[in-house]
Amino acid sequence: IISVRGMSKYFGDFVALNDVTLDVNRSEVLCLIGPSGSGKSTLLRCLNFLEAYDGGEVRLNGDLIGWQDGDSTPRKALSTNALRQQRQHIGMVFQQFNLWPHLTALENVAEALIQVKGLPKSKAHEKAREALGKVNLSDKTENYPANLSGGQQQRVAIARAIAMEPTVMLFDEPTSALDPELVGEVLTVMKEMAAEGMTMVVVTHEMGFAAHVADRVAFLDAGRLVACVPPAEIFSQDPEDERIRTFLQTYR
Ligand code: ATP
Ligand code: MG
Repeated sequence: IISVRGMSKYFGDFVALNDVTLDVNRSEVLCLIGPSGSGKSTLLRCLNFLEAYDGGEVRLNGDLIGWQDGDSTPRKALSTNALRQQRQHIGMVFQQFNLWPHLTALENVAEALIQVKGLPKSKAHEKAREALGKVNLSDKTENYPANLSGGQQQRVAIARAIAMEPTVMLFDEPTSALDPELVGEVLTVMKEMAAEGMTMVVVTHEMGFAAHVADRVAFLDAGRLVACVPPAEIFSQDPEDERIRTFLQTYR
């Protein structure tokens, strides 16, 4: 469903992504792990063209993301409007929830449905209510972000993405900013989404989630994709790659 081919990304002379090639299949949960600074966030941001890259390409269901398709060199970037259309299909959830403080939970979820999808307000609110139900927040629709816990705010952010009915969801450390006791409720919602067949790419330090929910785990090190394998191969007693062994030792 997603195909990444030969992706490279530089920050000046620094190589943030080095020739990354990766496929994500429909309904798959792919967890992306690796040391700090290895390029996980950069890769995720390149997937939906929040970050322009220097080489390679990303396709979603065959459609080239961010660039006009064809052989023109240099490649031509898509118009802002065309990019916005593509991004509708790619949901993104960040470590920081980025909710509008002056809007209720319901209004936060409904906003993009009205602004981007062009739904009438009543229909948008109906869909927003449904999405908030899926993240177990039916009783908090009228709360403002300041009156929600961190875990609840993150679930609103997830509902906001779900409501757009994306083809794929990208998560960048969705639980890292949460107090430990709130992590579980967010992971539970993500597990439910996985069980419903949502295609998900999840950057995470939650090794339990990666081990038990991921279909495959991708390991990045210094911008290179070192492995992309079923979790059992990474979390086995003695993973083959030295870099993976060293990384996992920090979690034991
Ligand atoms: P973490 O686990 O700490 O979130 P990460 O794997 O997500 O790390 P990235 O944020 O993708 O790492 O960063 C990869 C590398 O690229 C880092 O060395 C970082 O310093 C560098 N980098 C990221 N963004 C920029 C930028 N805008 N300008 C220069 N260097 C950058
Ligand atoms: Mg990161």
